[in-house]
Amino acid sequence: MTKSSILIIEDEEDIRELVKYNLQRENFAVLEAGTGEAGLKMVERTTPDLILLDLMLPGKDGLEICRILKRDERTRHIPVVMMTARGEESDIVTGLELGAEDYIVKPFSPKVLTARVKAVLRRNASAPELAPEDVIKIHDMVIHPGRHEVRVKDKPVDLTATEFRLLHFLARRPGWVFTRYQIVDAVHGEDYPVTERSVDVQIVGLRRKLKRAGNYIETVRSVGYRFRDK
Ligand code: CA
Repeated sequence: MTKSSILIIEDEEDIRELVKYNLQRENFAVLEAGTGEAGLKMVERTTPDLILLDLMLPGKDGLEICRILKRDERTRHIPVVMMTARGEESDIVTGLELGAEDYIVKPFSPKVLTARVKAVLRRNASAPELAPEDVIKIHDMVIHPGRHEVRVKDKPVDLTATEFRLLHFLARRPGWVFTRYQIVDAVHGEDYPVTERSVDVQIVGLRRKLKRAGNYIETVRSVGYRFRDK
C-alpha cells in the first residue's frame, strides 16, 4: 500500500518538526513548507493527500492560501485541515466557508492531530457523495428523503420541512462541521425564513423532537454544527 502524503504548511519550525515526527511514525509521507507561497509551489509539482495549513503565516496567510487552493480546479479536492490558535473562531468559520474540511486548535496533542488527519482521509475516501434521494442509515436513525420521513429506532419523528432539510443536510456528511452560513445556504426554508440566527432555533426544535437522538447533532462552539460520526 502506498503511503498517504501530508503537506504541512507551518512557519514555526518546532511545530512543523513535531507534527512531521508524529505523522511519519504513523507511516505518512510528509512534505513541509515554511510559508504559504512555498506550499503552493510544492502543490504545483505534487498532489498531497491532505494539507495541514497553519493560519498565521508570514506573507500570504493561511486563509488566503486556502482560498487559492479551493479556487483552483487542480487542487480544490485536496482536503485542508487548518491549524489555528485558540480564539480564532472567526477565522475557522471563514476557512470552513472557503472550503477547508476541518480544523484543529493549538496547542494540540500529536495523538489528536493524527486521529484528526486519519478521520478526514477516511471520510474523504469512504464517503462518496450521496445522491439527494439516497436513504441515510446512521446510528439508530433512518432518513428517507423521498418520503420526507425520519425514523428513530423505527419510530417516525414528525418534523417540519425545514427541520427535515436541516437534519438531512447534516446527516449526509457525518463528522463534518458546518457553519451557520453554510447551513442557511443549503437549507432554504419555505415555511420559515432561515437566517443564521434561526438556525440555532431550528436546531433546538429539532433536538427536542428527536429526543435522545437529538444528541447526534453536536454544537461546535463558536463555529457551527455537526452530525456525530459513527
Ligand atoms: Ca504560524
